[in-house]
Amino acid sequence: MKIHTSEFLKSAADLEGCPESELPEFAFIGRSNVGKSSLLNMLTRSKGLAKVSSTPGATQLINYFTINESWFMVDLPGYGYSKTPQKVRDGFQVMVSEYLANRHSLRCVFVLVDSRHTPQKIDLDFAEWLANAGVPFVLAFTKIDKSKAGKVKSNVAAFLKSLSDRVDGEPRTFLTSAEKGTGRGEVLDFIDQALKS
Ligand code: GDP
Repeated sequence: MKIHTSEFLKSAADLEGCPESELPEFAFIGRSNVGKSSLLNMLTRSKGLAKVSSTPGATQLINYFTINESWFMVDLPGYGYSKTPQKVRDGFQVMVSEYLANRHSLRCVFVLVDSRHTPQKIDLDFAEWLANAGVPFVLAFTKIDKSKAGKVKSNVAAFLKSLSDRVDGEPRTFLTSAEKGTGRGEVLDFIDQALKS
């Protein structure tokens, strides 16, 4: 898929605030600092579309971007930032889980996982929650330029192994680097196929 236009549409504080338009949407989520904003900017080839945050965990809104006037790229707040106050974290969980479980036009969630780390409980818990809620998701491992290929491979394999103990089936997996542009074609092709199906 070629990206011709990408525009910020709106920020929503909760499910009710999401656009009424029923364009299909693809949401992106992961731990704070996983590289989500960088990935969204890499996919759309725009520098400042999604804000690369200097304060992890600062964004608590659902941000909508209209792509090619035909689908929404949805930037969900990052989870798991330890300095976020518990009250804010609870609010985040309600807001995000309501959105994920009830947003009818949501086609697929990209769960971003930092490829530098061995499997983290918070990511596995989140993926398991999606599976149990019946929300379609795929995995996008980020920052693969930061580690040796062998390490990325073993971290990905370990993550999939841990996940297979919890959920049926293996999710589609993408290896990405916002720095190098790796995985851009694969992710956009996947979205293209999903839009056609
Ligand atoms: P977010 O909090 O998930 O939106 O993460 P950001 O996109 O703000 O990225 C967090 C930090 O990781 C920033 O310093 C980015 O420059 C860096 N980063 C993000 N993606 C990559 C990547 O693919 N490669 C490298 N080397 N650094 C990255």
